[in-house]
Amino acid sequence: MTASAISPADIGSYWLASCDDDLTRRPALARDEIVDVAIMGGGFTGLWTAWFLLQAAPDLSIAIVERQFCGFGASGRNGGWCSPRFPVNPAALTRRFGAEIARAMLLAQQAMVDTVGRICESEAIDAHFDPAGVLTLARSAGQLPSLRQSFDAYARLGMTDGCELLDARQARDLVHATDVHGGLRLRAGATIHPGRLVRGLARALERRGVRIYEGTEVVQTTSGIHPALVTEGATLRARRAVLLAGEAFMTAHPAHRRSLIPMASTIMLTAPLTAAQWDSVGWAGGECLSSYVNTTNYLTRTADGRILFGSRGAPYRYASDMDDGALREKANFGWIRDRLVEWWPALEGVEFTHRWAGYLGIPRDWMPSVHFDAARRVGHSYGYTGHGVVTSAICARALARLVAGGTGAPDAPYIRWQAPNWEVEPFRWAGIRYVQNAFLRMDIAETAGRRPPPDARLAKYLGEP
Ligand SMILES: Cc1cc2nc3c(=O)[nH]c(=O)nc-3n(C[C@H](O)[C@H](O)[C@H](O)COP(=O)(O)OP(=O)(O)OC[C@H]3O[C@@H](n4cnc5c(N)ncnc54)[C@H](O)[C@@H]3O)c2cc1C
Repeated sequence: MTASAISPADIGSYWLASCDDDLTRRPALARDEIVDVAIMGGGFTGLWTAWFLLQAAPDLSIAIVERQFCGFGASGRNGGWCSPRFPVNPAALTRRFGAEIARAMLLAQQAMVDTVGRICESEAIDAHFDPAGVLTLARSAGQLPSLRQSFDAYARLGMTDGCELLDARQARDLVHATDVHGGLRLRAGATIHPGRLVRGLARALERRGVRIYEGTEVVQTTSGIHPALVTEGATLRARRAVLLAGEAFMTAHPAHRRSLIPMASTIMLTAPLTAAQWDSVGWAGGECLSSYVNTTNYLTRTADGRILFGSRGAPYRYASDMDDGALREKANFGWIRDRLVEWWPALEGVEFTHRWAGYLGIPRDWMPSVHFDAARRVGHSYGYTGHGVVTSAICARALARLVAGGTGAPDAPYIRWQAPNWEVEPFRWAGIRYVQNAFLRMDIAETAGRRPPPDARLAKYLGEP
């Protein structure tokens, strides 16, 4: 079965529209081939894995098979944060693995932000990498405890030299949003144009001899001496390894169905703001910006002076169903428009030029996992929630090391990590819908200055890593 073609324009992502690359599909896999390593998925995971494999062994023959086109998935649709945060927050990392490992993981994530910037430079990928850091605001008195807990978690790891706790006035000086009660600034972190990065990486790999086949859906994988990616028209065999890099789309594969859930997230983008509008917004530092809401928000200032506002997406669909076509129609764009004006009332009536949505992959414990079974010669890496721009590179590097026969960094618990399975349906659907609904009710109550709903603790317990 070959998936029906979805065009970049149908997705609506500004990043794809402005990636400055020819988005004409590369040819599909038309006849059987054999390579050293065969990779399914032309997003960051698949591309970074090829990149790190070639760093270790430049002569490896590698082919990537992508159902649509490189950057079709979350990699071409995300918020543009090169996040220094690991998917599991510092407090939970410390609880699970101890301070030493938690610290090492966070430092590795921060170092990878810089590595991404360096690779953009060395490969001449003009991905607007801006090491502006991360700023998280408490936008109500009710968010102050989360701000404090977040800072305390870094303090317990001895990492306060990389972060700064801001009082209300200091935070308001940086961003002139309403209801700012304080903030936490992380020095590490960058904003990036993910469309240019994903397309630029694909070109850089092709220059090194990697073959990329687009419009080619993998319908089966086989393992053993010569594992293979089987597509409708042809089979790609591998001497060394077959690697699966499908993130949220992995939920369609029987062996991975309950390892992840696909969670939608929605983005709206304004037209470039005028100088006067930027004066009223503040945010001159252009940090990756967010607040401590439960329904999540992430804001990015683009290189051409627009505001990207990302937030919750369409509700979880029964049995992890992913309807990419309907994603945009079901996304709650009105909600995002209202949130932007709530942050900055002066932007009432501002023009929005782009709106899109995509799927994140979320493991039950929010912990990504990297596996390579040397006997079966099959591996995968996935499960980055909303931090995959950088975490995918870390995990891809680990996967490449496993394939090359190394063990990976000893302080990397995500290697061979086995997350608990998501519940069977209908309990999964009921639980996730409950948490989505409860988080919304909690945020609405907080914004209105009301007490949290009585089930707030239960929802937090169920909905946080
Ligand atoms: C709206 C949104 C905002 C986000 N914001 C951020 C952010 O600001 N910062 C951050 O760090 N992370 C963010 N993320 C997460 C981040 O984008 C992802 O974690 C990351 O891009 C995952 O990369 P990937 O290559 O693993 O997956 P994807 O980019 O989803 O790529 C998987 C690819 O596999 C292909 N594929 C799947 N099945 C098959 C098959 N059977 N045959 C062939 N090909 C197949 C798909 O077509 C797809 O192209 C966001 C995600 C979304 C959706």
